Amino acid sequence: MTAAGASERVGFVGLGNMGMPMAGHLVAAGYHVQGFDVSAGVMAAIAGREGFSAAPSLTAVGDGAAAVILMLPDSNVVEHVLLAGGLLASRPPGSMVIDMSSSDPLRTRELAARASAAGVTLIDAPVSGGVSGARARTLTIMVGGTEEALTAARPLLAAISPRVARAGDVGAGHAIKALNNLMSAAHMVASSEALIAGRRFGLDPAVMLEIINGSSGRSGSTENKWPNYVLTGTYDAGFSIRLLVKDMKLALAIEHATGTPATVSEAATAAWEAAAGELPPDADHTEIARWLDRGP
Ligand code: NAD
Repeated sequence: MTAAGASERVGFVGLGNMGMPMAGHLVAAGYHVQGFDVSAGVMAAIAGREGFSAAPSLTAVGDGAAAVILMLPDSNVVEHVLLAGGLLASRPPGSMVIDMSSSDPLRTRELAARASAAGVTLIDAPVSGGVSGARARTLTIMVGGTEEALTAARPLLAAISPRVARAGDVGAGHAIKALNNLMSAAHMVASSEALIAGRRFGLDPAVMLEIINGSSGRSGSTENKWPNYVLTGTYDAGFSIRLLVKDMKLALAIEHATGTPATVSEAATAAWEAAAGELPPDADHTEIARWLDRGP
């Protein structure tokens, strides 16, 4: 794993919206990706793709590989794959599991302790930047783990994106990721309410965005989500509202556990939960702007 040898193998579980383009960069860097996904369509897609192979089973995904990367929906699925699914038991001592999903930091710490008892190093390395960042190789990767573990994992992570930052010990990456998404989601709902109000007041949304993006109200919502996915009418950022609400709840749990004031965070989460309750479960998160603008 320390040198990106031309035929070096890496296991990869969860080749969805994010996992597929991330794995594509590993192949471009010279790795052979042995993938596993519960989706038959994904397995068929990788079976025919150069640099990929479809693992015959979950427990075979890491055969011949020093590391297995997970890019799964949440901690429930990560635990299911590692424990009930037998992936952790299949990993040899000295190997590594890298959880790049947006998981629960406390459950990640517990999993890392169980892995360590089996001689396996588990680190968290969640990402920010969305599907467009995954494709463009501009994701921010926030790593929770020791310096030594990061040194071992760095060639793989750097192949996915050069923006690799150590967040702290195991679980730290997952904690920062959840808190980041809480902020991002709060910005999205606040800016959507303001921009909808402006439009109803007679202002042109494109003009508002141009002015706001040079002013103090700007955010990832005004700089990226509104211009690229809301005003275009495409609502296809590739991140589901269900996964975003999951992240907000993880961050709220951190705020509550630490006795931090959470009034705005709670209100923002309630707004997203209300939208998620009425939209289809796999609706793109940018749909909240259309939902907020719905009729009375
Ligand atoms: P996704 O639903 O598109 O992909 C998840 C993949 O996991 C799917 O292909 C699914 O079939 C597979 N999967 C589910 N259960 C499985 C199991 N038991 N075994 C094997 N495979 C299984 O989700 P995504 O948008 O790619 O997100 C993945 C993770 O990345 C989530 O934790 C999400 O919060 C996080 N994330 C997403 C984005 C984004 O913009 N989409 C950005 C940053 C982080």
